[in-house]
Amino acid sequence: MIGDVLTQPPSLDALRERMRESLKGIVPDFEIDYKAELAHQINLLKKEMNAVILGHNYMEPALYQSVPDYVGDSLQLSAISAETEADVIVFCGVWFMGETAKVLNPKKTVLVPSNRAGCSLAEGISAKDVRGLKAQFPGAPVVTYVNTYAEVKAESDYCCTSGNANKVLKHLLDQGHKRIIFLPDQYLAHNTARELGVGFITAGIDDHDSIPADQPTVIGWDVRCEVHELFTVEDVNNVRRQYPDAVILAHPECSPEVIDSVDISGSTKAMVDYVEQTDAPMYALFTECSMGDNLAAQFPHREMVRSCSLRCRHMNQITLEDTLDGLRKLQYQVELPEDIIALAKKPIDRMLEIR
Ligand code: SF4
Repeated sequence: MIGDVLTQPPSLDALRERMRESLKGIVPDFEIDYKAELAHQINLLKKEMNAVILGHNYMEPALYQSVPDYVGDSLQLSAISAETEADVIVFCGVWFMGETAKVLNPKKTVLVPSNRAGCSLAEGISAKDVRGLKAQFPGAPVVTYVNTYAEVKAESDYCCTSGNANKVLKHLLDQGHKRIIFLPDQYLAHNTARELGVGFITAGIDDHDSIPADQPTVIGWDVRCEVHELFTVEDVNNVRRQYPDAVILAHPECSPEVIDSVDISGSTKAMVDYVEQTDAPMYALFTECSMGDNLAAQFPHREMVRSCSLRCRHMNQITLEDTLDGLRKLQYQVELPEDIIALAKKPIDRMLEIR
């Protein structure tokens, strides 16, 4: 879902009431009262500074429901950051997202409220690693998941998100490529290759010499999301046993075994769309838990199985306190070298074109 731009900040009373209504049963009232005051100050400052706040679906519910002008997944928010006319972009998400916004808006001030909001995927691969793979598989196009730092994107041909990974891979397969390097999430790469019916190997682990040259194959990397890799088939079976009517959705950063055991695999946007439109009596999500909280708040008339216990420690670095501090002190500003911005822009633009 993409929210409306907040042209005139609501009064503190109106904001508190709105938060109480939407966060009923999810956040206790005393916490809402405190957070509403912080959110009110953020909204006033945002207006004064001509700032726009982008909120990723994994933000904690009180923040998610109060200060973002737009909410969504990486792809939606990247597209918005490419078009915004605000002077300051505050990315309530992790650091690589702020970098993507900076590449698309090099002249604007881009802030991420915490400089400790990393990502196991982004930290699991370097530009040097990509150069090594390009040397090992000459001619193979490099697709990198948006969950990478700009120096890695700068070495890539295409970027993608979980929302358009299959379209980007299909685009390259249609061009006749037999080897495609897809980095860094091993599970997303494997799940997407399977969806398209092509082979998959992990660089440095599997023997690529044994694969026939004419067999389309995706070459992945040995890194996974530290949150989604923890979901197991047993978790899925437990939900099925207890809630046989529930439709189970999992993010494609989960293992192929988990994806095989659920009903639907989809990006965070696909999950939002599903919950918005479903007639299923009940649903369960296998993804970061704040997303479940946010969907429960957004669609209170749909019944969600509240079984999740996995939160992303990086996303959880982003708080209302830090967002307010970030605006007041103009911290933490994303800065990137000009050559990296120039090189990283091309694969990001391609990602935004293939949607
Ligand atoms: S949920 Fe996983 S992919 Fe997303 S920011 Fe956290 S570690 Fe990275």
